[in-house]
Amino acid sequence: MQPQSTHPQPRPGILDIAPYVPGKAMSTGGAKLHKLSSNESPLGASPKALAAYREAGVDLERYPDGSSALLRAAIAEVHGLNADRIICGNGSDEILELVARCYIGPGDEAIYSEYGFLVYKIAILAAGGTPVVAPERNLTTDVDAILERVTDRTKVVFLANPNNPTGTYLPFDEVKRLQAGLPPHVLLVLDAAYAEYVRRNDYEAGVELAATAPNVVMTRTFSKIHGLAALRLGWGYGPAHVIDALNRVRGPFNINTAAQAAGIASIRDASFLDLAIAHNEKWRGWVTEEITALGLTVTPSVGNFVLIHFPETPGKTAAEADSYLSARGCVLRAVGAYGLPGALRMSIGDEEANRATVGILKEYLSA
Ligand SMILES: *Cc1c(COP(=O)(O)O)cnc(C)c1O
Repeated sequence: MQPQSTHPQPRPGILDIAPYVPGKAMSTGGAKLHKLSSNESPLGASPKALAAYREAGVDLERYPDGSSALLRAAIAEVHGLNADRIICGNGSDEILELVARCYIGPGDEAIYSEYGFLVYKIAILAAGGTPVVAPERNLTTDVDAILERVTDRTKVVFLANPNNPTGTYLPFDEVKRLQAGLPPHVLLVLDAAYAEYVRRNDYEAGVELAATAPNVVMTRTFSKIHGLAALRLGWGYGPAHVIDALNRVRGPFNINTAAQAAGIASIRDASFLDLAIAHNEKWRGWVTEEITALGLTVTPSVGNFVLIHFPETPGKTAAEADSYLSARGCVLRAVGAYGLPGALRMSIGDEEANRATVGILKEYLSA
């Protein structure tokens, strides 16, 4: 026997993971709290989803439907998809992890872009793989930079479109160029968590590509526009062979009954989603204009959040703005972990929260 460590050791890679730090929930001050740190919906969930959730709470002794059949049927109906090729996840994060567990192992590489969603790096390292980062241009994914980094060992490319925390997006032509440039053994994951918010003619979430290409899977979430983040619900759409692999690895009852019921009601409530889209359009525009007028740079966003850049001048920095805002009840998201220490991400809130944040920022900059 080889001498072993004095206590059990995780696999190589696990201790390289920097734990994901969620958006702060608590402010330090006594003022009313406006939580604008996790891109949650200011409109909350659809009243129909809330009713379905309450109804599901009456009987709790039975296991959920492990195949989420009714939920998949509802998603398929609303989006015009084949229900057999949908997989539901405990948040879309679970689907990203399942992809990593199924397709990435020690010695394998997976690519994501410089300011891409942090969950990709965690999922790759947890699977024992090697993360490969492709630099961005103008805080936007650079397709050529990704393609240049593909090797024989590349197994997966993760692309958030639009991306969090930058709010930028790739036109669908660029996504298609990326897919066309990848060798057939590489799986392209299109994470479209914010798809519903995008109002651009050249954008597509990737439904068509996931339906037709043998190496593309699209992920979606109920955490953002549906306002159901607490229930943890997401879904993926892809080729039958990919969905089959993911289904073998996922927990047999990964979606609880209440989440299934609320998800079905929510996805069918199109008029509620329209309200959320209209609210976001209006206030994202307002917030962007007002903050730009204060002399700060705001990266043009197509999502339900904006990235605000601060000067390095002491007294005017992002870190100091973060403390100043949270002490006054407005909690934004510091994005130093994304390599953006000079910026803060602000989720679009309700009118009161948006006005409060802009007002406090004005006060901060003139102090
Ligand atoms: C919020 C977000 C998700 C959604 O995660 P869930 O696990 O579904 O809550 C996925 N991808 C990105 C880029 C996100 O910002």
